[in-house]
Amino acid sequence: MEGIGHALDDDRSVNLASVFPGNGEMAARCRAFDWASTPLGRVSSWPQSLRTTVGIVLACRNPMFLWWGPELIQIYNDAYRPSFGRSGRHPIALGMPGRECWTEIWPIIGPQIEQVMTTGESTWHEDQLVPIERNGRLEDVWWTYSYSPVFDDDGRIGGTLVVCQETTQRVLAEGRLRAIYDGTFEYIGLLSLDGTLLEANRASLEFIGKSRDAVIGVPFWESPWFAFTSGAPQAVRAGIARAAAGEFVRYESPITRHNGEQRTFDISLHPIRNERGETVFIVAEGRDISERQRLLNALHVERARLAEVFRLAPSFLAVLRGPNHAFELVNEAYYSVIGRRDIVGKPVIEALPEVRQQGFVEILDRVLATGEPFVGREQRLILQRTPDAPPEERYVDFVYQPLTEADGTRSGIVAHGSDVTEQVLARRDIERLLIESEEARAEAESANRVKSEFLAIMSHELRTPLNAIGGYADLIEMGIRGPVTAEQRDDLHRIQMSQRHLLGLINEVLNYAKLETGTVEFDVTEVHMREVLAAAESLVAPQAKAKGLTLAVGDCPPNIVVHTDSEKLRQILVNLLSNAIKFTDKGGRIDMTCLADAKCVYVRVADTGIGIPADKLDAIFDPFVQVRPELTRRHDGTGLGLAISRDLARGMGGDLTVVSTLGRGSHFTLSLPLYAQ
Ligand code: ADP
Repeated sequence: MEGIGHALDDDRSVNLASVFPGNGEMAARCRAFDWASTPLGRVSSWPQSLRTTVGIVLACRNPMFLWWGPELIQIYNDAYRPSFGRSGRHPIALGMPGRECWTEIWPIIGPQIEQVMTTGESTWHEDQLVPIERNGRLEDVWWTYSYSPVFDDDGRIGGTLVVCQETTQRVLAEGRLRAIYDGTFEYIGLLSLDGTLLEANRASLEFIGKSRDAVIGVPFWESPWFAFTSGAPQAVRAGIARAAAGEFVRYESPITRHNGEQRTFDISLHPIRNERGETVFIVAEGRDISERQRLLNALHVERARLAEVFRLAPSFLAVLRGPNHAFELVNEAYYSVIGRRDIVGKPVIEALPEVRQQGFVEILDRVLATGEPFVGREQRLILQRTPDAPPEERYVDFVYQPLTEADGTRSGIVAHGSDVTEQVLARRDIERLLIESEEARAEAESANRVKSEFLAIMSHELRTPLNAIGGYADLIEMGIRGPVTAEQRDDLHRIQMSQRHLLGLINEVLNYAKLETGTVEFDVTEVHMREVLAAAESLVAPQAKAKGLTLAVGDCPPNIVVHTDSEKLRQILVNLLSNAIKFTDKGGRIDMTCLADAKCVYVRVADTGIGIPADKLDAIFDPFVQVRPELTRRHDGTGLGLAISRDLARGMGGDLTVVSTLGRGSHFTLSLPLYAQ
């Protein structure tokens, strides 16, 4: 207490108001402060340099802080006060030795102050983080400050003056801004007007695979962004020049990534203006649109392909819109059906005026009104396909399908189908030909029937006089009309032979005619093949023997029973055997054999006779065909035997076939089904 009293007393000798001028709080505190209790001693003892500096500090509106003397006794001004926050340091920091006041940050600022005090060199710290205790905790506080030496009256370093500015708010705001642009996937860079890259966000640096230091300060077009892309640097340079002139520039650019990946970028260059409206920076913004581009391209290709399919589809296709059914889309096949092209945009009535009366427009109206599709088959359509030619008839298969929008309204119709004119006309031709051939067949059949009927009548008419000739010849030969000379008897024999031949011929003709007219009836019974073969053999055996031929009938498999007409079967076999005898020379051989499988029985008559020329094998089954007529005259034949036999065989569900070698013999095979059909 004594010291204070003494000091106050003593300091009355100095004008405190001139050392600590002004009305501020700190000036008042300084005036009231007991400086004698500090190593600075009484104010009256202070060197002039300290007094002057304190005056400047207290008067200055910039935060200032002075450390004086080896103990670094503190004096600060009003502008500095808010920096303490609620720390309890103010006002006790006044006159306090620096080391005692700033224990928590002394490791940071201690050496800096020490350096100034010993070397006299000023320091500059920009946005330096100096966490201090205030507001009840250790707070991150950023400062921009300088330490400068203040010299005392003898030119030695007396203290350190701090001129400082707390920049916490700005540093935090900048950090938040950076978080925004580093947090985005877009590529952002800040350029100076000459194109130097000033800043690049995290996404950009990751994309180009470089550190910040490697790209900042480099002209944008020389940056690794473009190192891989030919042509891009010039375009970028031109773009930057335009943006620097205040224009917003936007363009697409191919960019090759550092790993070789090809990308497409949508690049925007935004001119940034100051308050005076002058462009000062350029913000370059890049968006990777490769994926969008790829999808668009794929979509484009897909569309083109679909359009091509639509255009060239073999079916005709048209999309009609609105109540008038205006043509919206039409493919090639449609054009070729209607024979004209200039129809897109026109209502159907206008595009195809000739169909007005043909019911198509009414069908379209109905499909649009009801939503029910319409299917047309072979619909006749009269079209004026060429302006000068007469209207043409076309036939079409088609479907009219309603087109429904997402909201359920019906807005149009798809017509698709095919031109079936050719098919319809071809089918009509075939139908016409079928009818014609049917008529021809019926005509031929009836002509045949007339012929057969004629033959039957004629044969009957001929038989009566022939029988009379035979009868009267027999009477004369018997001598009933008087004695007969040897010469007359010879003549009578000739008459009788001719009469028999003629009668045989007529009988066969009659038989054949019956077959042809379909008037033959088959008397089907169970027939034992063995018995029929034996009967046929016994009938021809005398002839064979007379001609010196060997006739052998093979043993039939036992119990073969056929459901057929036994009389007609025997007639066929006798005919085949007679032919074999007729056309086989003396000493030859004839074999008749019988075989069966699950369905048929086969009787084969084989001879070692003269055989049949290959080109006649088919013809011998035709009526009146004889290979060598002169032989037949000798052999007493008509040329009807095989025709009748085959007709009979077929009439019984079987067939008659031949295999023959000229000069070696013939094999005739009769096949008959085991069961009547
Ligand atoms: P034809 O009354 O003349 O025998 P067919 O219809 O029975 O009449 O025979 C027709 C012709 O087929 C015969 O004229 C003969 O030329 C030929 N032909 C039939 N069978 C034989 C056979 N076994 N060998 C050689 N030729 C045959």
